[in-house]
Amino acid sequence: MAGEPQDDCLFCKIVAGHIPATIVRETDTTIAFRDINPQAPTHILVIPRVHYRDVAALAAGAPQIAADVLRETQAVADEEKLDSYRVVFNTGTGAGQTVWHAHGHVLGGRGLEWPPG
Ligand code: 5GP
Ligand code: ZN
Repeated sequence: MAGEPQDDCLFCKIVAGHIPATIVRETDTTIAFRDINPQAPTHILVIPRVHYRDVAALAAGAPQIAADVLRETQAVADEEKLDSYRVVFNTGTGAGQTVWHAHGHVLGGRGLEWPPG
């Protein structure tokens, strides 16, 4: 069921504490932790504790929590002292999504090209 933990989901396992992560912020509804393969000096993932397959499913099923995730991206950027940063929600295989638990990438600390690749 949407929102329920999934046994085969890597990020549900991080939420449950079964897989370690370098957590930088936690709220009742979200967790933020460092990406294991950083693409920028700051590369932090902000995820809802609940399981939805992507950000659109999260926004449809739990809009308040989607707002919490967005608010936390700014909180992470503030903690990292980023004046400019980018939030990326890869959605679908063709866009590079590899983990099917909604997550926003907060990227910063270097020049960020536009348009992105
Ligand atoms: P996606 O490709 O789905 O947009 O993003 C998934 C992200 O999760 C990737 O940037 C990848 O490096 C990161 N990732 C994959 N496995 C782990 C892990 O075990 N721990 C952490 N902290 N990040 C991971
Ligand atoms: Zn999950």
